[in-house]
Amino acid sequence: MKAQDRRTFLKHAGLSAASLTLPWQLAADTGNQTDRPDPSAPAIRVSIDGAGDALVARAFGILKDRIEQRVPQRLVLVSGDAQVVLAVDSALPTEAFRIDDAGDVIRISGGSSRGVLYGVGKFLRTSRYDGAFQPSAWRGTSAPKGTLRGMYFATHFHNWYHQASEAEIARYMEDLALWGVNAVMAIFPMINLHNWDDPQAAPAMAMLRRYAKTARALGLQFTTGINNALFIDAPEDIRATPLPDPLGRRGNHGHPICPSNPKGHAYIMENTRLLYEKLADVGLDIVCLWPYDEGGCACEQCSPWGSNGYLKLSRDQAALGREYFPELKTVLSTWMFDTPPEGEWQGLTDYLSADGEWLDYILADAHEDYPRYPLDSGVPGGRPLLNFPEISMWGNSPWGGYGANPLPARFQRLWDQVKHVVHGGFPYSEGIYEDMNKAAVLQFYWNPEQSARETLEEYIAYEFGAGVTPELLSLVELLEDSASRSYRKEPVDTAAVLRAYDLAESVNSRVPEWVRQNWRWEILHLRAILDRERFAGDGLETPAAEAAMLRLIEIYHCELETDDPYHHRVRPPLKSAVSRAGNK
Ligand SMILES: [Zn+2]
Repeated sequence: MKAQDRRTFLKHAGLSAASLTLPWQLAADTGNQTDRPDPSAPAIRVSIDGAGDALVARAFGILKDRIEQRVPQRLVLVSGDAQVVLAVDSALPTEAFRIDDAGDVIRISGGSSRGVLYGVGKFLRTSRYDGAFQPSAWRGTSAPKGTLRGMYFATHFHNWYHQASEAEIARYMEDLALWGVNAVMAIFPMINLHNWDDPQAAPAMAMLRRYAKTARALGLQFTTGINNALFIDAPEDIRATPLPDPLGRRGNHGHPICPSNPKGHAYIMENTRLLYEKLADVGLDIVCLWPYDEGGCACEQCSPWGSNGYLKLSRDQAALGREYFPELKTVLSTWMFDTPPEGEWQGLTDYLSADGEWLDYILADAHEDYPRYPLDSGVPGGRPLLNFPEISMWGNSPWGGYGANPLPARFQRLWDQVKHVVHGGFPYSEGIYEDMNKAAVLQFYWNPEQSARETLEEYIAYEFGAGVTPELLSLVELLEDSASRSYRKEPVDTAAVLRAYDLAESVNSRVPEWVRQNWRWEILHLRAILDRERFAGDGLETPAAEAAMLRLIEIYHCELETDDPYHHRVRPPLKSAVSRAGNK
């Protein structure tokens, strides 16, 4: 938001700038920003065993930062006489960690420096911060069951991922790494660009490269997606044949090209090559190939797309990628395969029985329940199966427009359908308001048997402090119930909405300052306020509702006046907010 817009709007909304300071977790990640360190409080002494490396040093920095935000004590790095030791222990599996005691010292060991980071996450979440630091009592060894624990950031529409600074993105990736993420995906939005010379192309590529650098500096695998839908200016004579799409699920979005047309194939490969080239110095670990929504071709040579034209093109795009990134792994999405049934799943099974060395993972999911084929008939080629849970849009529009949208029961139900077969996945994320959903899903990937509720208990204690867990679990349950009823177009239970509001206010009056300044608490609290206003009050134009939406707009870095015709999808529905180019 431009400062001028903000001032104008604040005047209009009757709020003072002082009440709109940015929360600490979205500010640059340098030390304590709430309370000054108390010099009289004894420091917490931490050492790094052995030489360590840049990532272990980063894990120390994260540990120091997160603890110092919560308590007045400081963390210092010492060479001996430590209370906590960070160590790489190559006897552990690469991504595993162990927390144990060596005399009076707590050791956080990882099978690699990334394992140390995951151990620091568990240590932080199970420590307590009730006035003073109380180190974790959790002891044990933990290794992830899922091998590819990703997160897809949709960097568009001027949502938070699009607008946040590099420091904010880095900090948020750290937070997700503490929950076990090991891969991050972002894409180059050819669908919105005319060609490489489009004025928006260079900034979009700069953003993609920033995501790649930030992820890889944290030891995470960077992933991007490609398909056969390219630039707006692609020549007309190479365009794909539109899909029949009788169920209206596949879409004919974007500007797909027919790869069975030699000129079309050359155009796709030339632009795929340019994309790889532009990432060559920052690195690419995984490429995700995608069939529909954007993409597909219904011509005779390409049909059925999912088990024919798509596989041939994906193989060529993977081979080209390995010229630039020899270790490149591939994820083949089966999104909307057999919608309607046309034998794509079976075709993929047949193909992989004889071919397909180039293919590492298969990704499947759907708008609602998981596709039956891999559950009933096995995963084609025995490849590890991934999911693609939609954690952002369900039950709330605009996305995140009313604050946090925790849906633990929904994701538990969806996970229970697949937990015996899925090895990880890439949740689809439009912003930070579904942070609780991210934590639940990332921990499913880590330990399939850990329930969303158990994860939320850990989340609440870590983010919102001691003594509020039962109330906040009830609050989350009430909020999910309202969202579910609203999604099903059933009347929302106003008594439940008011109970949720009372719970949120009661907790808000008791939490310490570090929690009140935590954006995660703010968005949960604001959701309870906005639910009250819209379901049990006088609607979204009350002063309370407008102030709540304005605060969300600030946290999400939305634009009060925008030229982006899609911004309304991610901006809280404040009546006075303006979309100069209309709403698409
Ligand atoms: Zn075709």
